[in-house]
Amino acid sequence: MDAVVANYPTHHRDAISDDARRVRNALLERGLETPLIDNGLNREEKFQRISDAFTEITRTLGLDLTDDSLCDTPDRIAKMYVDEIFAGLDYGEFPKVAVIDNKMQVEEMVLIDDIDLVSTCEHHFVTIDGSARVAYIPGERIIGLSKINRIVRFFAQRPQVQERLTQQVLVALQTLLETEDVAITINATHYCVKARGVMDSNSSTRTTALGGAFKSIPSTRAEFLR
Ligand SMILES: [Zn+2]
Repeated sequence: MDAVVANYPTHHRDAISDDARRVRNALLERGLETPLIDNGLNREEKFQRISDAFTEITRTLGLDLTDDSLCDTPDRIAKMYVDEIFAGLDYGEFPKVAVIDNKMQVEEMVLIDDIDLVSTCEHHFVTIDGSARVAYIPGERIIGLSKINRIVRFFAQRPQVQERLTQQVLVALQTLLETEDVAITINATHYCVKARGVMDSNSSTRTTALGGAFKSIPSTRAEFLR
């Protein structure tokens, strides 16, 4: 167990970029930010507390943590939560986004389909597995296509509800691209539905958020949703 702790990266918290700050403010203004509190804990303190808490959970379930298959599980989960599946709670991890002037005068819709999306349901802390389609109509600014995937991933790496995740990506892109003309749709399977409760293995949930021309011009909306 100690080996995992020793290997835990002690990298410093990155300063929050101007882009991240603008996106956070835009979400706060619209009431779309994830409910967050600043508890003052650094990464190492979070890691240690989560590991301790999962030790308690596994013991409470009656599992033997001296077993060599289980002994590192609390540390593994702590590392996974802080550095991986919930890394998007830390705006220091917001992707570096190169937004550039639209010198090529691109005016047509830019659409990226089948963006892999793995998130976590905040009601049950189990996986949401799906894909996203994102489009925007370039105005003054254009963005590297891979950056859109990274922004989707950043907000997916939080405990989420799918509707909020959809809105957060919309507002983040509207803010960075300085245009309302952005659209996103997410189609996902919720493992809290598949693995428990009604145990429906085939249902999926689609959420859509439309801004600007995607909302007001039927043909633009239809082209995106097609
Ligand atoms: Zn759930």
